[in-house]
Amino acid sequence: MKPLVVLGVTGSIGRQSLEVADQLGWPVAGIGARRPSAGLAEIARSRPETEIAVAGGSLEEREEFSREFRGRVSFGPEALEGLAAIPSVVVVNGVVGLVGLPLTMAAAKAGNRIALANKESMVAAGPLIRRELARSGGELIPVDSEHSAIFQCMTGEDRESVERVILTASGGPFRTWEVDKLESVTPAEALAHPNWSMGDRITIDSATMANKALEVMEAQQLFELEVDQVEVVIHPESVVHSMVRFRDGSIKAQLGAPDMRLPIAYALTYPERAPDILKPFDFAGVSLNFEAPDLTRFPALALGYSAARLGQSAPAVYNASDEVAVAAFLGGRLGFRSITSVIEQTLEGLGVQSVESVEDVLAADREARSLAAAAIAGAC
Ligand code: MG
Repeated sequence: MKPLVVLGVTGSIGRQSLEVADQLGWPVAGIGARRPSAGLAEIARSRPETEIAVAGGSLEEREEFSREFRGRVSFGPEALEGLAAIPSVVVVNGVVGLVGLPLTMAAAKAGNRIALANKESMVAAGPLIRRELARSGGELIPVDSEHSAIFQCMTGEDRESVERVILTASGGPFRTWEVDKLESVTPAEALAHPNWSMGDRITIDSATMANKALEVMEAQQLFELEVDQVEVVIHPESVVHSMVRFRDGSIKAQLGAPDMRLPIAYALTYPERAPDILKPFDFAGVSLNFEAPDLTRFPALALGYSAARLGQSAPAVYNASDEVAVAAFLGGRLGFRSITSVIEQTLEGLGVQSVESVEDVLAADREARSLAAAAIAGAC
């Protein structure tokens, strides 16, 4: 059992990772978070053996935090990278946003196993991460529920026999709304996800289906597929987490209650399975429904396929402009349907740059953010 390092520990994935670690009796060597919050202090108090890394926070906040946790806390983004690069640990990257990329890279360089919940890393810099893992002998196990499902379905199979992967999507809270009503959607309405309990950005991204678009790009990179080998199907019950179709026509699916503790545990224990992570699933009375995604209702999905086809900097630009637009929506500065317009304008405005390094990815991200902010300012 290699000790765990949990980055983004105060977030939804981070907290559930600690729960899983406790359930499995797994040691936790380090925890990392964005800010020195009360939530982080509480976690740190209950785990006196762990190293703590804090990326940001004001000088005052840091001083106060240091008083209690002197000797085991370090500050700055490089402190989180340091935890990711401890030799022979399993790194759970549950950080939200592209700030997670340097952490994924640090863990990959160190040859560690990465339980990756930070999809932005793979979306924006998939080829760079794969190259680093090949060099170091590290491994990456997806924690995103769909990608964990695909990974589980592919385990034991010859990659050559995979014809396509089928990502399931709940369709979010607006699957059945009239398209005309979508512009007046409020943040509270968009934050009410029917099946999964997640962070704010990912919940809004589920409502626009930008999340699924990012997952298409993530799947393409993780499993080295052509864009057209990644299909999306709406499945409102979120019981089938995703599927793989093989060249003989056979389809494997991974099913279960929507609970992130399963993909987290699998990423830690793979190729073995831990006992009793989920209660037995009761199929009685459960009906499973599937429908094709409506691209008029969810133009962000169609746009995601375009960005995936463009490749290079386009997925990073998609991700960054979406993040900025979602923040503007949550702040009441942008309409719900305009989130997708901002992504589209930013992609068009920036064109495609080649990506050879993390610096290139971060540059594309910065440019996309400022162009998206300008587009939002223009829209108000
Ligand atoms: Mg997902």
